[in-house]
Amino acid sequence: MSDIEERLEEIQAKLYDLAPDRPVEIMAVTKNRSREEAIQAVAAGATLIGENRVQESVAKWDPKPDCPLHMIGHLQTNKVKYAIRHFDAVDSIDSEKLAVAIDQGLLRMNRLEKFPVMLQVNGGQEISKSGFDPNLDTVRRFLSTADKWDKLVFRGIMAVFPLPSDNSFAEKQRIRHLMKETGELWRMCQLEGYPWAPLEHLSMGMTHDYEWAVEAGATMIRIGSGLFGSSPNPG
Ligand SMILES: *Cc1c(COP(=O)(O)O)cnc(C)c1O
Repeated sequence: MSDIEERLEEIQAKLYDLAPDRPVEIMAVTKNRSREEAIQAVAAGATLIGENRVQESVAKWDPKPDCPLHMIGHLQTNKVKYAIRHFDAVDSIDSEKLAVAIDQGLLRMNRLEKFPVMLQVNGGQEISKSGFDPNLDTVRRFLSTADKWDKLVFRGIMAVFPLPSDNSFAEKQRIRHLMKETGELWRMCQLEGYPWAPLEHLSMGMTHDYEWAVEAGATMIRIGSGLFGSSPNPG
């Protein structure tokens, strides 16, 4: 077994312990990783690929992978026209302006089907990260009128969280609490039942915190270093 297969299997076993009664999808986050490494992760059982930068992804993924390719990094509006041709979904809708730009780009392409997106939530309200505040009124107000973007369907919430500043129990509890709150926010918005925002997914948790995220309800985790090792090996 390759290292990637072994690591993926270990994560799958943990997911089964944490959530035996429901599926949790593993997204392989392949920024700074080669196409070959990414393909190994998909062969081993990752069901999605996440990339952070449009240019890197376009250069790497021609031809496209055998699984959906998602944009998970901050997307500048001037790159939208490339992104919507290249990606199968954009999980990082972090502003109204970006939603408008994607919708208009899709209209210009005369795309018939709706394009899957996720709303990005900044779970710890960090200045260094983008996304909507994890506030029910804010998120509900945005989603309740999201039918004005005819070409978008909101498939979920993608949440980002602070790195723990140390290994203390208090710090672990702080992050777990933020994740629990975001899990509740997601469930509340799901209950609204907007046809344009079915919100099937809660994408939450990375290598260091995915266990807490699954505990709080994540349906999709985003794993980079936990699959590929910690030192990037481009090319
Ligand atoms: C890099 C990245 C990940 C994966 O991080 P790891 O700690 O390497 O697992 C997940 N989500 C986003 C948005 C990222 O940029």
